[in-house]
Amino acid sequence: MGDAALFRNLETFARELGIRLGRQLVERLAAEHRALGETAPPPALAPSRPALMPGLAGRRRRPGEPPPPCGKPGCNRPARTRGYCQTHYVQWLKSR
Ligand SMILES: [Zn+2]
Repeated sequence: MGDAALFRNLETFARELGIRLGRQLVERLAAEHRALGETAPPPALAPSRPALMPGLAGRRRRPGEPPPPCGKPGCNRPARTRGYCQTHYVQWLKSR
């Protein structure tokens, strides 16, 4: 029957359409990437962001690693969140 041939034509059409769309997408992404590269340096070369909080390491501590001291001057408690002890973290959180 002609149905099988029609189906095969449709399948070929769909596959080629998909390939064409995929190529267009890749080309558009590449063009956007080039445009971005002209205006802004790649993230690796961008200046690193300054630390938000004193004592904030920017990473999770390993288990057993001693916590840094609280970032609040005069506070001797170990930092727990964002470089502050629990008390001063809550103060900082409420002052935002
Ligand atoms: Zn504190």
